[in-house]
Amino acid sequence: MNVSKKVVLIGHFGVGKSSLLRRFVENTFSESYQVTIGVHIMKKKVSIAGKGDVTLIVWDVEGADDFTKYRPSYMLGASAFIYVFDLTREATFKDLTSNLGLLNDKFPKTPVHIIGNKVDLVDKEMIPSVLKEHNIEHTYLSSAKSGENVELLFENLTAQLI
Ligand code: GDP
Ligand code: MG
Repeated sequence: MNVSKKVVLIGHFGVGKSSLLRRFVENTFSESYQVTIGVHIMKKKVSIAGKGDVTLIVWDVEGADDFTKYRPSYMLGASAFIYVFDLTREATFKDLTSNLGLLNDKFPKTPVHIIGNKVDLVDKEMIPSVLKEHNIEHTYLSSAKSGENVELLFENLTAQLI
């Protein structure tokens, strides 16, 4: 079996969406910030043991502090969303719960994977209390810089799609 699935990265500006995708597809990282303009699409084949291959077509859309302003064509047909926030900037996750509600209203059947990125920059002991304070559950803690949990995220996401 070889199927293709569209996955869309969403989240505020600068949280590391493009970096996570580059880490996953090319296994590289850059400290310099290159703003994504419009949409950047990257593909990668993921093999799931016993189930076959899935070609993930990942849409990296220009960051927006309000994802409801994304063009509908970005979001349509997505098999999953990856909602990335930045563990070092509260502004990128204080609206997470309400945004998840909005996403669920519009796309009730599409799973959303939540990623707290830049875990390399924060004190890991502080994370549970911060997440609890904001009612954030089931979050991956990733680093596009070190690569921590990046493959795991995409593999788990893919396994859930087939
Ligand atoms: P986007 O706007 O969400 O696509 O964010 P980018 O991927 O362009 O990243 C924004 C900035 O954060 C860049 O300067 C990256 O180098 C940096 N960055 C992204 N991910 C990480 C990470 O996991 N750790 C660290 N230390 N920096 C990161
Ligand atoms: Mg970007």
